[in-house]
Amino acid sequence: MSKRAYNFNAGPAALPLEVLERAQAEFVDFRGTGMSIMEMSHRGKVYEEVHHEAESRLLSLLGNPEGYKVLFLQGGASTQFAMIPMNFLTEGKTASYVLSGSWADKAIKEAKLIGETHIAASSEADKYMSIPDLSSIEIPDNAAYLHVTSNETIEGTQYQQYPKTGNVPLIADMSSDILCRQFDATQFDFIYAGAQKNLGPSGVTVVIAKEEMIAESPKHIPTMLRYSTHLKNDSLYNTPPSFSVYMVNEVLKWIDEKGGLAGVEQANRKKAGLIYDIIDSSEGFYRGPVDAGSRSMMNITFRLASEELEKQFIKESEQAGFIGLKGHRSVGGLRASIYNAVPYDTCKALVDFMTDFQKSHG
Ligand SMILES: *Cc1c(COP(=O)(O)O)cnc(C)c1O
Repeated sequence: MSKRAYNFNAGPAALPLEVLERAQAEFVDFRGTGMSIMEMSHRGKVYEEVHHEAESRLLSLLGNPEGYKVLFLQGGASTQFAMIPMNFLTEGKTASYVLSGSWADKAIKEAKLIGETHIAASSEADKYMSIPDLSSIEIPDNAAYLHVTSNETIEGTQYQQYPKTGNVPLIADMSSDILCRQFDATQFDFIYAGAQKNLGPSGVTVVIAKEEMIAESPKHIPTMLRYSTHLKNDSLYNTPPSFSVYMVNEVLKWIDEKGGLAGVEQANRKKAGLIYDIIDSSEGFYRGPVDAGSRSMMNITFRLASEELEKQFIKESEQAGFIGLKGHRSVGGLRASIYNAVPYDTCKALVDFMTDFQKSHG
């Protein structure tokens, strides 16, 4: 057995050991071709099979929603922040956003560069410690779409339900919680996620969208930035990030083996419950700053009485072999990112460490 770190990194993040070992076993000689998957043509049969398998496996995990297509793009979720308004924010329309945290804020800033934007609801006054109340969402009549960030990775909040938008397309940045639980993909017209948190390595960005939404793109935008280009060419217009797509396919296979979304949801609830329980039962030694109804199952943020004590926690946790527990530099505090691939035992080890830390510093 390889020695594995207690990895709570926010992204790139832990990958399943089984996936890494499988990839290692076929790294040098991919399925009898005498070369690695990185060394072969993306136009060849071997790569194309992996590419299509990843697409169909993803749709299958979502219950094969009718009329949806998968795209494999590059440039990260951050490039989607710009591509979405470039493709969908047409003359006379407004791009509507729920301002729920740091990532939503970044998405809005990019849309502002392209056209008119609108804040449908915001939790900024609450320092983003909650997802805005769905009933407070106001969508203008001329909205090109409503954009939500399903999980705010930095603050540690997550939607428990999604807004109903009627005829207005609903777009979601699911970079940090895609496939963490069962959900109805048909609520959304367009979903995107950088792969490096819950789907695989960095280098590929996954889009799942209604085909009619991405079939036509404005002609004035660059070819590579049109969704229609990638739809028409099955994400093979130019060279795709082939190794990343292969790894995503392996991660999707692993999710299948874990019982699909129902299986990973059950495991994730158990993991998150374990850590939130120790926070809530610590009599104020640990404090979860996020509203109880908006707590994330993927990124658990917590605070201690002082920044000094938080520094001490990070120092001692690192000495004990825990990686990545420091909160994002913009908000401070502590954060445990427990994506699908973080094992239960790793979470249990953290809880044991937290218990000991409280005993020696409480
Ligand atoms: C990490 C993250 C991003 C940025 O992803 P990149 O692939 O690095 O551009 C965007 N949105 C959310 C919610 C994230 O967690």
